[in-house]
Amino acid sequence: MIDGIISKDRGRHPNWRDKDYEAIRFQPFHLSNADGNLSKDLIGKGLFERGVYFSGTVTPTSVRAICICDVCNRSFTVQHFHGGFSENQYFYSEDAKQTLVVGYHEIEDIPNQLQKEVDETALTDLESKLLQPTRGTGRYRYYNSFRCPHCEVPFIDFEKNKEIRPTEYYGLRHINLELQKIAY
Ligand SMILES: [Zn+2]
Repeated sequence: MIDGIISKDRGRHPNWRDKDYEAIRFQPFHLSNADGNLSKDLIGKGLFERGVYFSGTVTPTSVRAICICDVCNRSFTVQHFHGGFSENQYFYSEDAKQTLVVGYHEIEDIPNQLQKEVDETALTDLESKLLQPTRGTGRYRYYNSFRCPHCEVPFIDFEKNKEIRPTEYYGLRHINLELQKIAY
């Protein structure tokens, strides 16, 4: 994995521990002659399977990722936070134009990151208590997909791949869009 580090100096660049560290990571892709069905298998999958994040290695929030939509082939930039370390769960709005962040202790029965068993009845009850998004349409839901901002097709398709939701512990947002933080 190669991160492009932004530097104002020709000869030096900041270290990832520095305050002004800012880097760009490109979603890996297969070379066309070696691809076969490999790219097709990744459609709708999460950012761990796509090789953007790695379990066991924390990606600093100052690294933003450039993803490429499987459908319209246009690129978009995402920023993330580590839900496990911050003890937060995230919910995407239906159009994924907004992300709600809720602390584990802010609302009862909230699924924690990596929690394998998720009670769908309790989840529906919890979702009915969440705020409405202030932008776009629809409600916040645990299994809402993260969508391409251009064509709005699911990029990480949680509706189809529910089993990957607990392990996608980085909450995402499209670049420069603020997170919504008050739970209910
Ligand atoms: Zn698209």
